[in-house]
Amino acid sequence: MATEPATTRRGELPPELDDPLFRQAIGQFDGALPNAGIDPFVAEVLRYPERALSVSIPVRLDDGSLGIYPGYRVQHSSVLGPTKGGIRYDKAVTLGECAALAMWMTWKCALLRLPYGGAKGGVRCNPRNLSLGERERLTRRFTAELLPIIGPQRDIPAPDMATDEQTMAWMMDTYSMQVGHAVPEIVTGKPLSVGGSILRPEATGIGVVMVVEEAVRRLGTSLESSSCVVQGYGKVGAVAAHELAVRGARVVGVSDIAGGVHDERGLDLKALDQWRDEHEGIAGFPGSQDVSNAELLELPCDVLVLAATENQVTGANAANLQTKLVAEGANGPTSLEGDEILGERGIPVLPDILTNAGGVAVSYFEWVQDIQRLFWGPDEIRSRLADLMGDALSRVWDLSQSEGLPFRRAALVTSIREVAEALEARGIHP
Ligand code: NAD
Repeated sequence: MATEPATTRRGELPPELDDPLFRQAIGQFDGALPNAGIDPFVAEVLRYPERALSVSIPVRLDDGSLGIYPGYRVQHSSVLGPTKGGIRYDKAVTLGECAALAMWMTWKCALLRLPYGGAKGGVRCNPRNLSLGERERLTRRFTAELLPIIGPQRDIPAPDMATDEQTMAWMMDTYSMQVGHAVPEIVTGKPLSVGGSILRPEATGIGVVMVVEEAVRRLGTSLESSSCVVQGYGKVGAVAAHELAVRGARVVGVSDIAGGVHDERGLDLKALDQWRDEHEGIAGFPGSQDVSNAELLELPCDVLVLAATENQVTGANAANLQTKLVAEGANGPTSLEGDEILGERGIPVLPDILTNAGGVAVSYFEWVQDIQRLFWGPDEIRSRLADLMGDALSRVWDLSQSEGLPFRRAALVTSIREVAEALEARGIHP
């Protein structure tokens, strides 16, 4: 009598992970495997997350009622060290989305040669509808639910979409109360007062621009002669936009979730920040034209920075982009179809696992400083960040040239080889 196989058949996705973003991550992984040339069994191990926790978080709401929120933490690979990755609060959080983001974190850490594997977590909620008190209770209870699987040598959370320094301070405090003493190294992206690092809040945006500036130079132009559009004027995008302007680029368009603004002469970003703070958004900024997010992506420019969210450049709009270079500040902003169309059109894409890795790089510095109880100054951190980003870009660029691969493929191949080599050396226990 035929029986069901006990394990997932090779190449098949377990139903609980069958999510569009996880399929995108797996599609990229499968695409890179022929070039990576690793052992097929090792590849099969790396296809799936090592561990996933699903929790239900009860929260006492301000009106006295009780809300129950689904939360997840996925650890993709601990081959290279403790796992590392952000926590996001968003309406779209699913187990599969966390699994995709955790896998990308593994590749990102390996690409930068950080002693970490990848993880990601999140709570499915609408953060805009939660008061500060509700967010604190949600964060503390979520942290308590995560206690069995997190730890400074096991899994170290960080901020992501709609979570911030305050969220990390609550997580650090909740964990520390359980063990009986302060443990700053349990999370990164904390306020300076509880062991945070200088430059961590700006690190992702600055890292994006370090990669873009070097790529533009290698492509034979300069930031001074470049016009740039930035989608997503948040923690990553706003810093990247300012850093681009500081380095001489003309930032002609930026957007947030409500839409964007465009000024061909270059936006005055300081005035825009003031306008945003006074009007709770950037729309209507004097001297600029309002544009939708769809229109913003199709504006003519030299560099398009995607710093909002996933799945923004797709089969539906990739043919209409009028940029010479795409830089992925967000995770997964280009779908598989979008990527293919950009490739056919000869528009290079600086991939997320390289371009936005500045955040996890300075998170690593924060963790090292916390463990040592010895803190570094801004010049040391900026110079170490520049070294890591520059070295990763060089290795990706060289592989791309020597094996004729697009940058995303070259970055993935580099990362996959790093992790596979370590997994082969360690072997499978028992
Ligand atoms: P954020 O919440 O601070 O900012 C996101 C910005 O994008 C906001 O301006 C928001 O209004 C806008 N936005 C959201 N959805 C949008 C949509 N559908 N269309 C247009 N704009 C939209 O978040 P963040 O920390 O800046 O993260 C942005 C992206 O960068 C995410 O993909 C995140 O995973 C990635 N990332 C963040 C970090 C970090 O250190 N914060 C590090 C690596 C990667």
